[in-house]
Amino acid sequence: MTYFKGMADAHVSIEEFRAEVRRFFSSRFELLDPEADDEREDVIARAPDGHQALVDRARELQSELARAGLSGVHIPVEFGGRGLSHAHARVVDEEHRRYDAPSLRPLGIGMHLAVATLLASGTEEQKRRYLPALVSADEQWCQLFSEPDAGSDLVSLRTRAVRDGDEWVVEGQKVWSSYAANAHFGLLLARTDPDAPKPHVGITMFVLPMNAPGVTVRPLVDIAGGLHFNEVFLEGVRLGHDKVIGDVNQGWAVSQGTLGSERSGYMGGSGGGRRLRQVVRAARAAGSIDEPVIRDRMMRVITNERLLEWVRDRFVHGTLAGGHPAAGSMMKLAGGSLEQQCAELIADIAGAAGQAWDPTDRDGDVVSHDLNATRQARIAGGTHQIQRNLLGERVLGLPREPK
Ligand SMILES: Cc1cc2nc3c(=O)[nH]c(=O)nc-3n(C[C@H](O)[C@H](O)[C@H](O)COP(=O)(O)OP(=O)(O)OC[C@H]3O[C@@H](n4cnc5c(N)ncnc54)[C@H](O)[C@@H]3O)c2cc1C
Repeated sequence: MTYFKGMADAHVSIEEFRAEVRRFFSSRFELLDPEADDEREDVIARAPDGHQALVDRARELQSELARAGLSGVHIPVEFGGRGLSHAHARVVDEEHRRYDAPSLRPLGIGMHLAVATLLASGTEEQKRRYLPALVSADEQWCQLFSEPDAGSDLVSLRTRAVRDGDEWVVEGQKVWSSYAANAHFGLLLARTDPDAPKPHVGITMFVLPMNAPGVTVRPLVDIAGGLHFNEVFLEGVRLGHDKVIGDVNQGWAVSQGTLGSERSGYMGGSGGGRRLRQVVRAARAAGSIDEPVIRDRMMRVITNERLLEWVRDRFVHGTLAGGHPAAGSMMKLAGGSLEQQCAELIADIAGAAGQAWDPTDRDGDVVSHDLNATRQARIAGGTHQIQRNLLGERVLGLPREPK
């Protein structure tokens, strides 16, 4: 619960708000050295002291932000937020990035995907039950969409929920479920009408309590050695009807809103000049800052990072918001490509030092980790090939791909 709860401060200007946010961060954290490497916002964050420590630090920071009225500021006051705009929420992100503060990424699925889904499609009761605990970081969420045979082709998902009186009984398996082992709830997609004339009709979105009997979570290790991934097995899980989000059999439409929010918010890249700083630092350290080929590639990074910022601005200020089909895909493509472009450039600058290094050489380890970890940015939230298909078909009006 925030001490701002109920306060009518919808008219706080961006400048006043920025000063307030800055006071919060400056009283707790050091400003980041602009020349220093800042690795905390990585696509898949590194956690030298373990995955759980990363999650704990995120929760601690977010609950402090919530106590100061600075978490989920765009969420209406009655649901635990502060009723401000998305532009205000962006100020919190921008200021957060300037300080040597823990990453909030482990809570991103809840704060981006679950919040957007519940606000758009949840009942009044669901919003009151789940949103305040998301804002305060008391409860975490995961996303249970992908299955072993349903990733890009999500519509072919096989997890089933069968109605039994006032309850639904769920059977199936999910995979690549980020932070599921830490989550209290999952956004679950399940097939509820296997006989529907079209596969995307007949899918329903549910709130899955992760401690429900029949839910088993098993960890998976990712390409960079991270431990955020899981498989989730669902055997005879019983869910009350109050766990349905949106209408029964209309979960596909609900999920498209969730994915748009994932692509534009959670996966939309780091921005803020951080990637450029990393590249410049690597080139200086390797003595290649004046090499024309390296400078040319650095210019591409600067250009792409700036373009991403502008697309993000248009999104935040409404030009691309409001369900424009291009917004999520554009930000996902721009953000994911930039992450990988920088990691590849830094690896090329490092040369052999990024491939084999003394165990005490932290830089070599970081270069190799980022090269592997950023590959995931092209896959998570829908692969780049799929985003290009979506832009081609829904925005440019190109013929649909043959099935
Ligand atoms: C870091 C990370 C975090 C993730 N977190 C979650 C999570 O929390 N919850 C969750 O539900 N899922 C999560 N995922 C899963 C992710 O959504 C899927 O991996 C993704 O949608 C791709 O599906 P797939 O892995 O089954 O690959 P596939 O769909 O099998 O694709 C394999 C390859 O074929 C290409 N391809 C497939 N179909 C087409 C087509 N029609 N046209 C052109 N190319 C095509 C793809 O682009 C890809 O290169 C995560 C993935 C990653 C990497």
